[in-house]
Amino acid sequence: MDKIAILGATGSIGSSALNVIERHPERFTISALSGHSRIEALSELILRYNPSIVAVPQGSTQLLKELLEKGSNHPAVLEGQQGLCEMVGCKETDTVIAGITGAAGLVPTLAAVQAGKKVLIANKEPLVMMGAAIREAARKSGAQILPIDSEHNAVFQCMPEKAQQLCAEGNISDTAVLRDQFGIRRITLTASGGPFLDMPLSALHDVSPAQAAAHPKWSMGRKISIDSATLMNKGLELIEACALFGVAPADVNVVIHPQCLVHSLVEYRDGSILAQMANPDMRTPIAAALGFPFRLASGVRSLDIAEIGQMTFAKPDESRYPCLALARQAAEAGGTAPVILNAANEEAVQAYCDGRIRFTGIYQLVDRTMQRLDPEQSSGLEDVLRIDRTAREVAQALLGDRELPFAKQVASL
Ligand code: NAD
Ligand code: MG
Repeated sequence: MDKIAILGATGSIGSSALNVIERHPERFTISALSGHSRIEALSELILRYNPSIVAVPQGSTQLLKELLEKGSNHPAVLEGQQGLCEMVGCKETDTVIAGITGAAGLVPTLAAVQAGKKVLIANKEPLVMMGAAIREAARKSGAQILPIDSEHNAVFQCMPEKAQQLCAEGNISDTAVLRDQFGIRRITLTASGGPFLDMPLSALHDVSPAQAAAHPKWSMGRKISIDSATLMNKGLELIEACALFGVAPADVNVVIHPQCLVHSLVEYRDGSILAQMANPDMRTPIAAALGFPFRLASGVRSLDIAEIGQMTFAKPDESRYPCLALARQAAEAGGTAPVILNAANEEAVQAYCDGRIRFTGIYQLVDRTMQRLDPEQSSGLEDVLRIDRTAREVAQALLGDRELPFAKQVASL
């Protein structure tokens, strides 16, 4: 039995993962679950899956216990970040699914890797913030890192077995390894283009958070859906690819593929391109990683290519998606530039959802925050957390500055 802990069990990734896991009761059991704001939803999952450990935010134990009173399930309840770290590191857990959203997942994801677990990572922001250090932690602890972000899972599936092994072990020492040892010339990540792919540029100014979060193909949490509309999600994924596969930013290409059927591609030096295709449903990459190297049923229906008929691919238009270029700059600058990018973006998306800035203000706020701060080379956890905090403070100060363009936009809302 593979004992599984899910960080962020009440979210979109959590629910796709639970759906796959419950199809294989002979293989998997749920050892631990965490939830954050929806404690009632977490209590329902506890009654259904009977984990022995759960983790909730500081001060939420009482509420959870009241909700569980009627049932017969009484797991150990841990609190706060320390609780999340204990939950993933304990002996009751073999495999961890990292499904928290944003930088909040950094410390527990790193703890799972340091504890030598098999770690299935959907939560891309920790990889963006300190990917090289997470890889190094895996190499030291013997953890196995398997990507479940659909694009990275696709790339992983298109690699030879030996390369998969090196990536999973964090054992890629420099950016030439995949090229020299395996003939990998380039990785291409596909992007849907989001809900505003064909909207006139002038109309982007006025789109609402509900429109931005309505992804045309994938059903996901709010933050990643809005990142998909700005293409910041693809920018973060470019950095994530460098972290997971040890490649240079120049070796990662992005194309717009609105049908979302090819999830990414790997090009080899002989001119061959291998691609992974599937219906857009996170249960496929989750099942591929849970079963790796074996294939498990996921519940996802077959893709009928004759019925699809046509697929299209195009270069992203940088005037429509300026966040992609910002992320590429941060990837190339290295050091803590991606930490600044990520923190500013999280603040900007929140400010947009709160009605404080316009959609186009997301790019402006991230750009200005990056201009205010010089990246550092250090990548230790304390430094990364300090820079994350500083970047958020700078972004908040900019939000309050009425002289800046996005602040004026707020005044005219
Ligand atoms: P979501 O908003 O649906 O769920 C987030 C989960 O994290 C919830 O369980 C929530 O309780 C928990 N959480 C939120 N803030 C927290 C905090 N401060 N501390 C502890 N827990 C917290 O998000 P999602 O769409 O499931 O995405 C999760 C991660 O997976 C993101 O990093 C996203 O980029 C990545 N991802 C998601 C998808 C998808 O299809 N949803 C696909 C690829 C990658
Ligand atoms: Mg993705």
